[in-house]
Amino acid sequence: IFARILRGEIPNDTVAENDHALAFRDITPRAPTHVLVIPKGKYVSFDDFATNAPPDEITGFMRLCADVARQEGVSLEGGNGFRAIANAGPDGMQEVPHFHLHILGGRRLGALVADG
Ligand code: AMP
Repeated sequence: IFARILRGEIPNDTVAENDHALAFRDITPRAPTHVLVIPKGKYVSFDDFATNAPPDEITGFMRLCADVARQEGVSLEGGNGFRAIANAGPDGMQEVPHFHLHILGGRRLGALVADG
């Protein structure tokens, strides 16, 4: 599904973009800011990306995450902070098998994980 977003086949609410990554709003936001950042390359998970992506793609992806936090007013430059989450595999309850980082903020987010 995120590959189709990258190809422009499915509309998305784009927040920011660079050569290596795209950031768009989650369709089911769990916080006032809930943005997904995805690399333009094909990686299934955080560990696939971290292991196999070339350094310029990793840098481009990470820089876009920082740009999003700043743009959304949740970075520590003037904002109240945020959480960056990458779910991986069944125990991580990853739903979409295309690596993405959730950037959540705009409210106090509570405990790191729910029990059970
Ligand atoms: P995860 O459980 O980490 O794989 O999260 C997948 C996320 O993708 C969920 O928060 C969904 O709400 C979100 N999502 C699924 N389809 C779309 C879409 N077409 N546009 C934006 N967000 C989406």
